[in-house]
Amino acid sequence: MKLVLALALCLTLTSAAFAPQLPPRPQPGQPAVTAAHRGPTDEDEAPPAGASAYGPYDEVWRVHTLRKDIALTFDDGPYPFYTPLLLHVLDRSNVHATFFVVGRSAQSFPELVMRIVADGDELGNHTFNHIALTKLSDREIQRQIALDGSLLRRLGGEPVSLFRPPHGRFNLHVVVIARALGYRTIFWSDSANDVKDIPPSLIVHRVLATASPGGIILLHSGEYRTIEALPTIIDGLRARGYRFVTVSQLLDEAPDLPDR
Ligand SMILES: [Zn+2]
Repeated sequence: MKLVLALALCLTLTSAAFAPQLPPRPQPGQPAVTAAHRGPTDEDEAPPAGASAYGPYDEVWRVHTLRKDIALTFDDGPYPFYTPLLLHVLDRSNVHATFFVVGRSAQSFPELVMRIVADGDELGNHTFNHIALTKLSDREIQRQIALDGSLLRRLGGEPVSLFRPPHGRFNLHVVVIARALGYRTIFWSDSANDVKDIPPSLIVHRVLATASPGGIILLHSGEYRTIEALPTIIDGLRARGYRFVTVSQLLDEAPDLPDR
């Protein structure tokens, strides 16, 4: 029955070009995805060992590119205190980043979302209520993504095509529903674990130590220490020859991006 409902949901969501193949939900004790590609249990976890550029569900962990390009991503918010500071640092450094924005915060502070866009930065969908989607029904997953998407489209003026699940929690249902709604699911290759109470110097060290071409760096919008660390991160990566791009720009330069 659930399979029928899931298929019915996806058929209503997707275009003819995309044929969803949702398996039934896993039984208790059965992993939703293979162990090698299971999603991190929290946003501040490292990606799974050996994470490839594209996972089994076409989700993105990094991008294959010969260029020394790298993408900064900021999750959560927008926040009235932190987001303007963050935008100021990025603007001063002439860096564009990708912001995965939560709908309930965007609704409270729409002017900050519009400022992100006005600054030339990119918006990504991070759901409306920031609930772990693996706990929700297919219908609720769809609603969480669609609500944030329509809000961001209205505020930003154009559709958003990138999606990151809250806490990095995902399974096939999450990725397939996101894709049916027009999103590519984006994770990260490097995390500074900046949601912990750690000094800026450690955030800098973690980012610089793990950065690589085509990398996607996970940081958080609501952390003052991250904002303190950001100028040194930017200078350090530039000194190593990196160029900052948005996630969409990174995806555009991937020579072997699988067909969608
Ligand atoms: Zn988040």
